[in-house]
Amino acid sequence: MAKYIFVTGGVASSVGKGITVASIGRLLKARGLRVSVQKLDPYINVDPGTMSPYQHGEVYVTDDGAETDLDLGYYERFLDLSTSQANNVTMGRIYKDVIDKERRGDYLGATVQVVPHVIDEIKSRMLELANTGKYDVVITEIGGTVGDIESQPFLEAMRQLKLQLGPKNAMNIHLTLVPYIKSASELKTKPTQHSVRLLLEIGVQPDVLVCRSEKALSKEIKHKIGLFCNLSDADVVGLRDAETIYEVPLLLHEEKLDLLVLRKLGIKDSGAVDLSDWEEFSHKVKFPKDGTLRIALVGKYAEYPDAYKSIFEAFVHAGAANDVKVLVKLVRSDDIEDGNITLDEAMRDVAGALVAPGFGNRGIEGKIAIIKYARERNIPFFGICLGMQCAVIEFARHVCGLEGANSTEFQKRPKHPVIDLMESQKTVKEKGGTMRLGSYPCVIAEGTKAFQAYGKVLITERHRHRYEVNNAYREILARNGLVFSGLSPDGELVEMIEIPSHRWFVGVQFHPELKSRVHSVHPLFNAFVAEAKKLRDEKISRESLKETIEA
Ligand code: GLN
Repeated sequence: MAKYIFVTGGVASSVGKGITVASIGRLLKARGLRVSVQKLDPYINVDPGTMSPYQHGEVYVTDDGAETDLDLGYYERFLDLSTSQANNVTMGRIYKDVIDKERRGDYLGATVQVVPHVIDEIKSRMLELANTGKYDVVITEIGGTVGDIESQPFLEAMRQLKLQLGPKNAMNIHLTLVPYIKSASELKTKPTQHSVRLLLEIGVQPDVLVCRSEKALSKEIKHKIGLFCNLSDADVVGLRDAETIYEVPLLLHEEKLDLLVLRKLGIKDSGAVDLSDWEEFSHKVKFPKDGTLRIALVGKYAEYPDAYKSIFEAFVHAGAANDVKVLVKLVRSDDIEDGNITLDEAMRDVAGALVAPGFGNRGIEGKIAIIKYARERNIPFFGICLGMQCAVIEFARHVCGLEGANSTEFQKRPKHPVIDLMESQKTVKEKGGTMRLGSYPCVIAEGTKAFQAYGKVLITERHRHRYEVNNAYREILARNGLVFSGLSPDGELVEMIEIPSHRWFVGVQFHPELKSRVHSVHPLFNAFVAEAKKLRDEKISRESLKETIEA
């Protein structure tokens, strides 16, 4: 039978619950346990797919096409596992299921209520992963902060399950913030005490506290927290701020959190745990041998980096693989469009440009201008989803001479609709969960940069889009030098493009960033960063040559 860890958060949001959960999972996996992780979100949207990135950050898409919370990205990257719809459940989905059941007559005769019907539905979702028999431990992250009105039903479901399953089978880890008050030069425990009191009010005694703080917690502070929260000192774990998120599993291991969890859940300690690969990776991230490399990330949500979370992380992985630290320079595409920043300013100090995914026409012309700049100056370019579509528009306009080329997403009836709604999308009316979503195969043409990167012909990647390259324009695009390096197996959909005469100009209709992992860097990010590094080194040697001549 699987064991359960429920992770709740207190005091404040953004304390790092997702990363803590992923780290606990990583540590248990390093101890040979089969672990899965689930996130429960308190909002009423059935999934985050219909939310703006400003509201929610990136929407993380799983292989099975679920649009989920970005924390699932951390679970996948840290635990090297593939998540699915079952790993992310929102309150909206719970209510929808309950209401659907009511309409079907499943509760005939009963008054359908939060208690017991909604709570029972939550409990069955909590048990869903464990019931597959595939896991020893299931970690459930409860979104929001204890005390929020909207997460109450989740907490009640946790309370009931803890009771039902018994102490050795389920536990609660509560993550809090212990703020450092500068004027008093002190870490303050009171918010943690209050947050535990809120949990106690609903009948849950946390088994372990993880206390995030700017500085390490002293023994005395741990004792004080334990005393007022009904815990022994050993059950209070400190988590000080780390330089990179990749250190978090190591910090929690130093604090013996993994051993504590094993003891609480009555799991036999199998002995040594090997985290050397993780140490090595985290060292590489912190101290790369070959310095830094700047890459422009061009998108309309540039002031809100959470919208591009997986892209940032993929750059960390690719940086480690290439012994450099990738510094991402966020460029707002509308700033280029509005003339707030010139193309030279945007591109001056970078060795490559990635044009980001997105929706709607704001900032599109800025993206197209950046792409033209990178194409004409032979600067490594990587276009993802909308970024690839913009590259096709740019190529059509400026290389094929198709003036007025555009996507029907941005203009109703463009003169040349080089990007158009997919056939399968034309009858779609509902917005939620109806894009082309999830994992699809793609066939790569040999002899291309794409093939060089992947080293194979058949790949699968995850998608989230409604528009595609218009096949009516494939011939003219190809005639002018655009190569369709990746196609759907039936040849109908263009999945990858490139320009062979350019040093590295690649666009993809899918989202490679979603599949980059700590231990398996994504081949395209790897190749893009490698090429950008080459350009950086060429620039450096050109400049030093110039200096020598001038001297
Ligand atoms: N808006 C574009 C489409 O729907 C691109 C989507 C994306 O970048 N994820 O096709």
